[in-house]
Amino acid sequence: MKVREALSWQKENWNGIVRHISNHRLPHAILLVGNSGLGKQYFAKLLAKYLLCLKRVGVLPCDSCKGCDLTRAGNHPDLIIVEPEKTGKSIGIEDVRKLSDRLNKTAHQGGWKVALINPADSLTLHSSNALLKTLEEPTRNTTILMTSQFVWRLPNTVRSRCHRVVFNTPPKSLSLKWIEQFAESPSKAQEALAVADGRPFLAKHLLGTHIYKHRSEFEKWITKVSRFEASPLDAARFCQSSDHVQLVDWFLTYLAKRVQQDLAKKCVPPVFIFYDKIFRARSWFLSKANPNPQLIWEEIFLDFRTLCLKMGKDLDWSNNQTE
Ligand SMILES: [Zn+2]
Repeated sequence: MKVREALSWQKENWNGIVRHISNHRLPHAILLVGNSGLGKQYFAKLLAKYLLCLKRVGVLPCDSCKGCDLTRAGNHPDLIIVEPEKTGKSIGIEDVRKLSDRLNKTAHQGGWKVALINPADSLTLHSSNALLKTLEEPTRNTTILMTSQFVWRLPNTVRSRCHRVVFNTPPKSLSLKWIEQFAESPSKAQEALAVADGRPFLAKHLLGTHIYKHRSEFEKWITKVSRFEASPLDAARFCQSSDHVQLVDWFLTYLAKRVQQDLAKKCVPPVFIFYDKIFRARSWFLSKANPNPQLIWEEIFLDFRTLCLKMGKDLDWSNNQTE
């Protein structure tokens, strides 16, 4: 996807940042905070491109100078992107040290130096500490951009040194208009956006994979277990050949959505305990421990059924279908 201008729902954030640049007050470290699927990475890449552009046109990069060409090709020497090797892996202390060394050198093109840590949630505690020194002693015309979905996981010492740009779920009308350009029909766009909980980039991703059908089937299993219409074992069987981390995330979203709809009855300790349990399962699936998915899913669904039993009517998820 070409990075040219701020997306319709990012205009306000973008204009704020451009104002900082025009006033020569761009913060040395910027934390782009918000759920996944809202285009934080896109925004960070646009900002990097804009800073490294040699002939900016108002609030946009020119898209044709040497700086823009190098950024587009992914080999601008003054843009340093630090990412984990694979999704779910950490960014180690060595990567942060290398980044700091490069930021301490003069810019190759004589302008800005931009670092992008994507996502900052992947920094270990040690690598966050290593980054602190760079955040405390910034060099001129340098900015460090960090994306974060789980911002509370970053040490306060890091968070407090960053300027925060917050991304919220955009109004439905804006998202739909954007997704329709990628969808076969407006109804498909609408369907994908609903499954993606209103997050445009996630909806776009879902459109390409038809994964949203799988998600709605998965949610049906959760509902059936909650109504005692299906056994936890069958539900676990359904999860077998799937991307387990993805399923866990869907389960977490499913719960969170329903808790938000009825805080008085559902925002209670047994629900939190169950929520934590699923979150732990997420770590197992991410770890190399080679877990047995069938067993883990059986346990999750058995616990879920126990939770539904314990809470009786108060936990009637099925009355709160939002899709
Ligand atoms: Zn340019």
